[in-house]
Amino acid sequence: MTENLMDKIVSLSKRRGFIFQSSDIYGGLANTWDYGPYGVELKNNVKRAWWKACVYERNDIYGMDAAILMHPKVWEASGHVENFFDLKSDCKQCRKRFKAEDLKDKNKCPECAGELTEARPFNLMFKTHQGPVEEASNIVYLRPETAQGMFVNFSNILDSRHPKLPFGMAQIGKAFRNEITPGNFTFRTREFEQMEIEYFVRPEEAEEQLKQWIDFRFNWYLSLGLKKDNLRLRPHDKNELAHYAKACVDVEYRFPFVTRGASSEGTWSELEGIANRADFDLRQHSQFSGKDLQYFDDQAKQKFYPYIIEPSGGVDRTVLAFLVDAYHEEKVREDTRVVLKFNKDLAPVKVAVLPLLRNRPEIVDLAKKISTDLKKSFVTVYDDTGAIGKLYRRQDEVGTLFCVTVDVQSLEDKQVTVRDRDTMLQDRVNIESLKEYLQDKFY
Ligand code: ATP
Repeated sequence: MTENLMDKIVSLSKRRGFIFQSSDIYGGLANTWDYGPYGVELKNNVKRAWWKACVYERNDIYGMDAAILMHPKVWEASGHVENFFDLKSDCKQCRKRFKAEDLKDKNKCPECAGELTEARPFNLMFKTHQGPVEEASNIVYLRPETAQGMFVNFSNILDSRHPKLPFGMAQIGKAFRNEITPGNFTFRTREFEQMEIEYFVRPEEAEEQLKQWIDFRFNWYLSLGLKKDNLRLRPHDKNELAHYAKACVDVEYRFPFVTRGASSEGTWSELEGIANRADFDLRQHSQFSGKDLQYFDDQAKQKFYPYIIEPSGGVDRTVLAFLVDAYHEEKVREDTRVVLKFNKDLAPVKVAVLPLLRNRPEIVDLAKKISTDLKKSFVTVYDDTGAIGKLYRRQDEVGTLFCVTVDVQSLEDKQVTVRDRDTMLQDRVNIESLKEYLQDKFY
């Protein structure tokens, strides 16, 4: 049952233009994905909703867009050069590669029972060279997280915006990790996007701030329609924490992945981690850069390193969770209706305008005109490439909120039929007031 659902999501994503295999015509690049016309809309809507809640609707967060390439010392200071590795073992027989922590038997291949090599450390950072000469002094890394771009801009924000604690920075951007075992569609890939916040607080307030951020972030997923039964918080055990971190709680979603030993109830997997990183990052960057990154409290006339609360989420995982959660199959008479019931803010398309008869130029012209008008206010598509039943089906499969149908009667009474995606109820609406009618539904 669960395996089926994931297969259905992958197939719908390709069939309807959400997500394609990268470099498809060359046989694909393993575990790399391209977002198609509806995928990019969904992804943008997820990012927009995050930015709105985390930046625009607050007074204490500053947006950032730092470069992917950074000074190599950043990654020494952050600990990534020294510590950002997984242990891997290779099968001598089938040549498959495994993350040592996933292996039950450290010596035996779980696929072919062949002998495994000893576990060896494998740094997950993609390394390349800046400029034409490939030598050690020119090494740069593709960032494995967006976070560091914010830590190194801490003093720029202080100097340009003069915020008082607590305050934060927010960034959405690509990150790269040379994962040993990518997979589960877009869940674990080597190139992905993160949505991260670094929130600077007084050390004594860190514990309380962490709690508030956990609540805030958990409720964000619910507010956009993820089912509560599929969402949970998982506090990290002490032995899971990075050595500097005081605490971390993951927001997990129950994905319909089938992994060895997982139950048919699905697999709880991380969407976002919310951590109390203490003062590790600012201390490290002060030490490595020689710049004092302490905060000056002008009332107490005191300098100190703020603690950092970091809510760090993945765009691609969040998009996948919304896709899975939105998927519904409903029996309609003899047929099965597949419908993606996205929240209105996330739906890639808000309105589709469909002519009932595509060989009647007056109907087609009117439908096109209505679509052109609506496009100024909502993401609207026009489609006349099939019979109406087929057109509805297509729009349901991409989660379009409303279908506006123009028929023969419309030419006379200047009214159209508006069909609601979820209830399938239809209203007859004056073309003149169509925009207001839809606006009322959206806002
Ligand atoms: P995991 O344990 O699943 O590898 P992580 O704990 O290493 O994840 P973080 O370093 O906390 O992940 O990164 C923050 C977020 O970035 C994750 O919650 C996830 O949503 C996203 N992320 C991390 N690695 C990947 C990846 N390889 N592919 C897609 N998203 C990722």
